[in-house]
Formats: sequence, C-alpha cells, structure tokens
Amino acid sequence: MATWLVTGGAGFIGGNFVLRAVAAGGRVVTLDALTYAGNRDTLASLEGHPDHLFVQGDIGDRPLVAELLTRHRPQAVLNFAAETHVDRSIDGPAAFIQTNVVGTLALLEATRDHWRALPEPERSAFRFLHVSTDEVYGSLGDTGSFSETTAYAPNSPYAASKAASDHLVRAFHHTYGLPTLTTNCSNNYGPYHFPEKLIPLVIQRALANQDLPVYGDGGQVRDWLYVEDHCDALRVVLAQGRVGQTYNVGGNAERRNIEVVHAICDLLDQKQPRADGRSYREQIAFVADRPGHDRRYAIDADKLRSELGWQPRHDFEQGIARTVDWYLHNQAWVSRALDGSYRLERIGAA
Ligand code: NAD
Repeated sequence: MATWLVTGGAGFIGGNFVLRAVAAGGRVVTLDALTYAGNRDTLASLEGHPDHLFVQGDIGDRPLVAELLTRHRPQAVLNFAAETHVDRSIDGPAAFIQTNVVGTLALLEATRDHWRALPEPERSAFRFLHVSTDEVYGSLGDTGSFSETTAYAPNSPYAASKAASDHLVRAFHHTYGLPTLTTNCSNNYGPYHFPEKLIPLVIQRALANQDLPVYGDGGQVRDWLYVEDHCDALRVVLAQGRVGQTYNVGGNAERRNIEVVHAICDLLDQKQPRADGRSYREQIAFVADRPGHDRRYAIDADKLRSELGWQPRHDFEQGIARTVDWYLHNQAWVSRALDGSYRLERIGAA
C-alpha cells in the first residue's frame, strides 16, 4: 500500500485527491496550514481513518517536513499547497511569494535531503509531484493552445509565483537529480470548491437571489476540467510519468465565462426553479474587468494522452451537472464555508 505526503490536502483539489486516494486503498499524510482556503470539513469523512493522518503545518517549515518524511517514509510528495486566488494576488502578492515560492523551496530542500539519504530501491521509486497551473503560460489569442514547450509568460502575481515554483522544481531535478514531475492544469471545477471561485460563487449567489457578477463582457475563455479527472491524471503521472518531465492536463472543454454562467443558470432553472418562475439568467450583472485579465487559455494535453494514455472521463455538460447537484445536496458544507464556521469548529464536533 503506497503512502503519500500530500500538501494542501484540505483545499479544493488536494481534498478531492486525498478522499479518492484513501478510498482507493492508499495511505495519506495530509500537511496543510489551514489558511482561509483550507477546510477540514472536506476531510471529515476521514476522521479517525487508519490510513489518513492530518497534520496542521506549513510547507515552509523545513524541520516539520523533514520529520514527517522520516517518520512516514512516503513513496511520494504531492505538492498542492499554494495561495491560489488571482484576485487576492492582485490585492496582496506577498503571501503568494511566501507560500508558492519560499514555501515550495523549503519543501524541495527537505525532500531532497530526505531522498538523498534513502536506501535503494526506495530512492529510485521516490517521486516529488508538483501541481501547477496553465496560467504560467500567459494569455492566448483566438487560436492555438499551450503545450509543454510554450514559453512561460505569467501575467498575474499568482501566475508569476507558480511559474517561479515550477522553475525551482525543474532546477531541483537538473541540479540535484531529485525525481520530480510537474503538471500544469487548466481550470478545475467540482465538489468542495471554495465559494469565492466562479462556479461555486455563481451557484450560491443564484440560490441566494443575488446578482451573478461576470467580469467585463464575459468573453474570457478557459478550459475546464472536472476535478476528479484531474486527480486521476495526477495518479497516472505519478505512476508512469517520466522523471523530470512536465505534463499538461486539460479537459478539452473551452468555454467563455458567460457560457459557464449560462450553463449553471439553465441547470438551476431545471433542478431548483426560482419561486417566481423566471430564469436565473436574469440575475447576471456585468462588472468592471479584473486588471490584466488573461483573455484565453487553452491546453494541449496530447503528451499526457499519447505517452500515458490519460483522457478526461467527464465532458463539460456531465461535469457541470454533477457539480450543480453536489452543491444543491451539500448546502451544509457551503454555508459553513460561507459563514466562516468551518474555521472555528469541525463539522460534527460538539
Ligand atoms: P486551494 O486554495 O483550494 O487550496 C490550497 C490549500 O493549500 C489550502 O488547503 C491551504 O490551507 C493550503 N495552504 C496554503 N498555504 C499553505 C502553506 N504555506 N503550507 C501548507 N498548506 C498551505 O487550491 P486548489 O484550487 O485546490 O489548488 C491546488 C493546487 O493546484 C495549487 O497549487 C494550484 O496552483 C493548482 N491548480 C489549481 C487549479 C484550479 O483550477 N483550482 C488549476 C490548476 C492548478
């Protein structure tokens, strides 16, 4: 049974990953600082589970990481921990540099020292998987897509900090031989997504009869990937990826933001109609665009498909329907995330 050290495992993608990994029979040690984005409610079903240990701590705490590596001897470290919200990076970039760059460096150093001291065959089997974003590539025109060889051109402080962390991971492979893997993924959506991000925000505000804010003209194009497909891609890369390589992960689902909002409104119209019988689309309100807002991202995931045989299992229509259902059926998780009680006490706690 594999043991993995998962950083950022109380966040959106990390949380989905941990739940799926333990359900599949893996053992996971979750290291998470529990920033505002870390939500232990997500992992509530693993409370007391023999194959899961939660540790509250910072990836920048090198002695703590070293101790966890020594004590649990994981076969891999998966680094999801990051500051991730672009708008917050515009208001305050320093926290993004601290965690995404300085923190990742400390995690890499602790992991390198641990890995160097491992005996064979553990040493050869060990992996460091760094989870990153397609935002490092900047913005596209109306055509084309990002491949693994596209030059980095980050436009937001968030993207710049992730780009820096990707370069550090690359350098630790080339300089020290650390067996790294890096994935650059498009926009994820699905269960346990903090309700500041577009899709959960629109669902919640629609249900609360509030305006649905759409930046600019809503014409920004993103590729959308259902989070479970991302988690499966990470497991494939971990198991079969070539050391030192980067893999793009995408959903083959380019949509304009306004199309995403329309899809949510239409699903809610069917599943939970408004009391007055009108469409949720009437709540859409266009707001001033975000500074430096990238116009279009698109991912070419052909390397992952042709080398490792991975493809997303959900198309956008299936994924968004499942997502809307999840939020409709998990309003307790959402309301605790919205009112802040997820930070004060755990779900089910007295
Ligand atoms: P998230 O914001 O939901 O979760 C981040 C988690 O990291 C939180 O639980 C937080 O408490 C934890 N964390 C923050 N700083 C920490 C620190 N210093 N030490 C330990 N833990 C810390 O993020 P997410 O959306 O789940 O993204 C996970 C990773 O995937 C990030 O690295 C992000 O860049 C990348 N990514 C996200 C998307 C997306 O669409 N959400 C797409 C591509 C890549």
